Amino acid sequence: MQLIDTHCHLTFEPLDPDIDAVIERSKAAGVISWITVGTNLPDSRKTVEFASRFDNLYAAVGIHPHDAKDAALDTLTQLRDLAQNIKVVAIGEMGLDFHYNFSKQPDQLRVFAAQLQLAAELNLPVIIHSRNAFDETIDVLDRFAKSVKNIVFHCFSGSPEQAKQVLDRGHYISFTGVVTFKNADRARQAADLVPLERLMLETDSPYMSPEPVRKQKINEPALMTHTAKFLADLKKIPLEGFAAAVTATSKAFFNHPPGPIG
Ligand SMILES: [Zn+2]
Ligand SMILES: [Zn+2]
Repeated sequence: MQLIDTHCHLTFEPLDPDIDAVIERSKAAGVISWITVGTNLPDSRKTVEFASRFDNLYAAVGIHPHDAKDAALDTLTQLRDLAQNIKVVAIGEMGLDFHYNFSKQPDQLRVFAAQLQLAAELNLPVIIHSRNAFDETIDVLDRFAKSVKNIVFHCFSGSPEQAKQVLDRGHYISFTGVVTFKNADRARQAADLVPLERLMLETDSPYMSPEPVRKQKINEPALMTHTAKFLADLKKIPLEGFAAAVTATSKAFFNHPPGPIG
C-alpha cells in the first residue's frame, strides 16, 4: 500500500522535534508521501525548509483564516516568493473560519481572495479550510472558478448536500480521521457520495487521531491507514484498490513530479 497524507502539519509541536521518527513510522505503515501545510508566513517558510530535507515530502504555503489578521501588505509578496520553490505543490491552507472568528471576517475574506488570486497566477492547486462558513466559501470560490484549477475542501465534515455542491463544481474533498468518529454519520453519508477520482485522505496531524486510536492525543501520518481502511470498508472496496485509487487522485490533483510515488 502506498498512501499520500495530503494534509499534515509536521512543522507543529510535538511532531517537529520528532520528524525523523515520524517519517520512518509513516513509511513503515505504507504512508510514503506527505504534504505539510503552512498556516502563516513563518510556518510556510518552515514547511518549505522541511520539504527540502526529505524525499517525497512536499509543502503547501498559505495563510490560515485564523492568521488572516496578521497578514501585512507584503505577506502575499513573500508567499509568492516562497511558492517558487520546487517542493511547493499548493497554496493553502486558506479559507474562512466563522466558528472561531480568530480573525475578523472582512480580514478573512480579503486574505482568502488574495491567495486565490495568487494561486491563479501561479497555476497551483488550493487547499481550503472552511468551518461554519460553507455558503460564504462557495461564493468566494465561484468568483475564481475559471482561474483556479484544482480546489480541495480539507477535513470535510459537511452534509451530503454540501458535498454535492462541492462535487458539482468539480472540486475535491479530503477526509481526516473525523469520518471515523462515532458521531460523524453526516460526514460518512457525504463520504459515500464522493467518487474515488475526487476523494483524498489526510491526517491534519498532530490533530484528529482516527478511531480506533482516537485516544492517542498526538496524531501522525502513520495513523492515516486507519482512515483508509475505514473508508475502503464504507465503500465496500478492497483496501489495496482503494489506496491505489486515492493515491492516483492525489497525485493528479497536486501534479506531483514523477518519482517512486511522487
Ligand atoms: Zn484546516
Ligand atoms: Zn490543517
